[in-house]
Amino acid sequence: MDSTEFSYYGKEMVDYIKNYVDNIRTRRVTPNIEPGYLKKLLPEEAPYHPEKWDDIMADIEEKIMPGVTHWQHPRFHAYFPSGNSYPSIMADMLSSGIGCIGFSWAASPACSELETIVLDWFGKAIGLPNQFLSSLPDSQGGGVIQTSASECTLVAMLAARAQAIKRLKQHHPYVEEGVLLSKLMGYCSREAHSSVEKGAMISFVKLRILEPDDNASLTGETLRMAMEEDESNGLVPFFVSTTLGTTSCCSFDNIKEIGEVVQNFPCVWLHVDAAYAGNAFICPELKYLLEGIESADSFNTNPNKFLLTNFDCSCMWVRDRYKLTSALVVDPLYLQHGYSNSTIDYRHWGVPLSRRFRSLKLWFVFRSYGISGLQAYIRHHIKLAKKFEALVRKDSRFELCHKVVLGLVCFRLKGSEKLNEKLLSNINESGKLHMVPASVKERYFIRFCVVAQHATEEDIHYAWEVITDFATDLLDSTKA
Ligand code: PLP
Repeated sequence: MDSTEFSYYGKEMVDYIKNYVDNIRTRRVTPNIEPGYLKKLLPEEAPYHPEKWDDIMADIEEKIMPGVTHWQHPRFHAYFPSGNSYPSIMADMLSSGIGCIGFSWAASPACSELETIVLDWFGKAIGLPNQFLSSLPDSQGGGVIQTSASECTLVAMLAARAQAIKRLKQHHPYVEEGVLLSKLMGYCSREAHSSVEKGAMISFVKLRILEPDDNASLTGETLRMAMEEDESNGLVPFFVSTTLGTTSCCSFDNIKEIGEVVQNFPCVWLHVDAAYAGNAFICPELKYLLEGIESADSFNTNPNKFLLTNFDCSCMWVRDRYKLTSALVVDPLYLQHGYSNSTIDYRHWGVPLSRRFRSLKLWFVFRSYGISGLQAYIRHHIKLAKKFEALVRKDSRFELCHKVVLGLVCFRLKGSEKLNEKLLSNINESGKLHMVPASVKERYFIRFCVVAQHATEEDIHYAWEVITDFATDLLDSTKA
């Protein structure tokens, strides 16, 4: 493709995306295909000769779209939102066009510098304490964009592990590192995202999974008892991962209490995963949910979930960037440059070396919407969730299962797990709506999340109508 063709087809692609978004309602939200459908439609070998662009694009509608789940569809209420907006899409296009790989300041100075600046903007906007920002004089902290929240937790755990091993080495210089490693114990709630467990598997450390309270919130007391017990058994607490806005039910760990507990143990790293909920702290009335953040060593939130930014964009801040980078520095000559001491080299802040110019999309989003526009978007989604909550409350056949704080409503039909499983599978199979289940303290429920960027009250009423129609049919059939 030459540049004239790129200009022509590029505009066509923009129009294709526009039409996709404008007409998304005409599609079925979930695909109606069987596993392996695509293998039957595509050749077994890659084409030897170049193919025409028009033929490739024709296959998008004929072969690819039938297998796509439309996450931006107004009938999609599963998981958490997948952020999306035109400014963000265009910034991603630009990032691909520039095609730089900003692993160090020297590899593309604007790439690193913009990342530092927008992470400070964002950190300030959500109310992170100054120690997480890099722009203040003598600051040790700062922010970085990682690929995913899972990676943020892993990287935090690796930093915590390095710090703990270093301290243990000082006290036990002749003990093998492998032996010291076998003593380390991390902690999280049963409601923490599964990525914490995965992080512990990769880091080769033990993880103790603690029971949250009746509000699905991990308390300081539960953590304290576990840490003290482990310590008295010769183990070394080194890492606590907490969650603000859990995946199943959007509950909030008590990070204030937990922070107070962690202070009493030497060298324990406190991580706060707010992958979805953290974005909402951009609204002043929700900042109370951050109470206790001063004690944290690291914090992450994903604008690619709840802040109109396309995947991937997971923002992580640390209180002491040197603790993070000292766990991850490898410094071959070919990556060094003359400004290493005075600039940020993001290659030391994460697992991959190569990195896209991801800060562009956050910059475009902040500038296109302004903080006020982003607040309006968050508030609109919360308002719609409250609307849905009110509809559930009015129907005595249903019950609400968890407090509605942001855009997620957890509800169920009064009755057995089987009944609710059946209700959900009937709805999902119809293709009229898409939701997923979850279970907290062995209580199964259905998650309804407000996802679409431009979701309306009509969409909420439509969803409730579909749910209640299926519920009526199901309850009638069980009576018959
Ligand atoms: N943490 C929380 C609280 C989540 O809800 C999720 C996913 O929804 C994750 C972590 C994992 O996010 P990612 O896909 O960015 O790794």
